[in-house]
Amino acid sequence: MKRTTILSVLLCLSLLVSMFTVPAMADSFSATEEGFGGDVKVTLTVEEGKVTEVTIEGAGETEALGGAAMPVIAEEILTAQSPYVDAVTGATVTSTAALAAAEKAFASAGLNVEKPEEIKGEDEEAEADVVVIGMGASGTFAAVSAAENGAKVIGIEMTSGLGGMGNAAQGMFAIDSVLQHERYGDDLGTDEQYWFEHIFDRTQYLGNGKLIRTLVAESAETVQYVLDHDIAMYLSAMPQQIAHFDETVVYHRWNNTQPFVHMAEYIEKNNVDVRFGTHADALTKAEDGSWVVTCTKADNGTLTVHAKAVIMATGSFAGNEAMMREALGDDVYEAAFVIGGCDGTGLQMLYDNGAAKGELLTMNHGVGPRAASTPDGGAIKVATQLTMNTPILWVNRQGERFMNEDLLKDTVEFSSAVLAQGGYAYTIVDEATVNRWADDSYENTGSWIHYWDQNGMLDENGEHTIYHAPISKEDFVSDFAVLTESGDGIVANTLEEAAAFIGCDSEVLKTTVENYNSYVKSGKDDEFFKSAESLLWTVEEGPFYVTKGYNAVLGALGGVNANEKLEVLTKEDHVIPGLYATGNNLSGISVAAYGNVEGVGLSTALTTGRLAGVYAAEYAQK
Ligand SMILES: Cc1cc2nc3c(=O)[nH]c(=O)nc-3n(C[C@H](O)[C@H](O)[C@H](O)COP(=O)(O)OP(=O)(O)OC[C@H]3O[C@@H](n4cnc5c(N)ncnc54)[C@H](O)[C@@H]3O)c2cc1C
Repeated sequence: MKRTTILSVLLCLSLLVSMFTVPAMADSFSATEEGFGGDVKVTLTVEEGKVTEVTIEGAGETEALGGAAMPVIAEEILTAQSPYVDAVTGATVTSTAALAAAEKAFASAGLNVEKPEEIKGEDEEAEADVVVIGMGASGTFAAVSAAENGAKVIGIEMTSGLGGMGNAAQGMFAIDSVLQHERYGDDLGTDEQYWFEHIFDRTQYLGNGKLIRTLVAESAETVQYVLDHDIAMYLSAMPQQIAHFDETVVYHRWNNTQPFVHMAEYIEKNNVDVRFGTHADALTKAEDGSWVVTCTKADNGTLTVHAKAVIMATGSFAGNEAMMREALGDDVYEAAFVIGGCDGTGLQMLYDNGAAKGELLTMNHGVGPRAASTPDGGAIKVATQLTMNTPILWVNRQGERFMNEDLLKDTVEFSSAVLAQGGYAYTIVDEATVNRWADDSYENTGSWIHYWDQNGMLDENGEHTIYHAPISKEDFVSDFAVLTESGDGIVANTLEEAAAFIGCDSEVLKTTVENYNSYVKSGKDDEFFKSAESLLWTVEEGPFYVTKGYNAVLGALGGVNANEKLEVLTKEDHVIPGLYATGNNLSGISVAAYGNVEGVGLSTALTTGRLAGVYAAEYAQK
């Protein structure tokens, strides 16, 4: 057949086929909204007016909370064929962004889903001996403990689940625990006195000595309480931070054990009446001395709870912008990577009832780029695991060194040092260093992550929890493409280019680099006294890999003062009868900066929750 004949036959055939089959045309529609650490993007695939696929991406969302929430919300949207689905507990910021983006994507796809009408629910009244406001880490423990001590308990929780930020936490501080005795016998090495003095000393003696003493003394009992409530807990193989390698391991881990699923059983067993999706708005005192909590329910009806005692377990104020700006200062607040959270209404309720304002602090913990840095599957595979966790050259926004980079041995300490530079800083490595990191035969990368992984951070099955060197250079380089796009990094051919990225004077940066190289070569850092073992990497020939790291702020700490029975205090240090505070709401455990004691946040939450439950129950039944 001639070529033209073949073509016309094919044309006829294809026309014939197209007469009988109408191919389903799939279109995709995307929209974005701002989440935790950048945009959350929702993409809908639409075929014949039906959504056939939903993807939600957000490289800057936290892995444990937002990262886990995104596929759940995507599935809900797909099933409901609607953007009006529930948010995921504990991942409010990511959920809100994803749902708002989904609403826009549905509109741009021309899919007009009617927003369900909000019908105001009934107004309700309830009575209890003890009302726990906020059923997060401390509140859940407080509620169960109060109920076990004979109180009728109501729990108010604005999200749809128990545990709050405790779901993201991995471990708690404790000394003299049954697990330590199993490991060390009765020779613990360090003791209650050591830890009390250490924690109190870290506050410059401005902290709440009696409360710190109570926390240390009661921590072992809290571990026992956790175990008694069927929550698996194990002692870390090594201290979590290299800075503490020569100390007794105090970090008791519960990761991967779903602690609050177990606590839910005890909530049920002890008839604790938890009102989920309910936001506590105001607290007043009735004439008879009892407390009245006014709440808004998910259906917009009100719930008014009358109780003899109140435990305020609302987890401080990380989601309240004005308070966070007060705690961090405007510049740092804007620069830092803040994991949001509770809105501060709990503290306001306490202030409204005469509580003295305590110090407002933030939980500075680590430094990282805004783009996600998960070892497997995140946008960044390996680069920032090394550039942000190795004692290489760190400079501030002036292009000058500002710390002994060995501080990286403790995530809290170096986070504070970076905070003092305005909330962000930069690392610089040259090509030769990257080649060494990528070289299989070069075993010691000097990365702290490497040490953690090899020695400390094993999970309960003995598996490595995080990435360790040697790295793939290909991954490292492609990571820098991600960092460059997000504005968190650059591959600079010259130090002038690096200085332009940092925004500093190039002569200052060159002098910093020259001085630093001389310290590495002589093995002696006269400027900040970095140890010789960390003086490993000069910065000589481009290309230079520059990473910008921001302070990670895990939450907020403090707000009110309480005595060792967790009773809230007035300005004159008088007890406000029947009013208790727990967990992150408490000032005085850390002062100026989050304490560098492994697991002190969760430990405070669980111990103060457990004890407040006992004391509030006792008070209510008097
Ligand atoms: C990612 C991450 C990892 C962490 N890892 C660790 C760790 O390994 N070790 C450690 O020691 N600490 C860790 N922490 C800190 C630790 O999780 C907190 O210190 C602890 O959860 C504080 O407990 P809390 O009860 O005070 O607050 P939360 O656990 O945050 O609970 C507060 C609860 O109150 C609810 N709430 C707030 N306001 C209202 C209101 N008005 N009405 C109704 N409900 C309300 C909230 O929804 C929430 O459920 C981590 C924190 C984060 C974010």
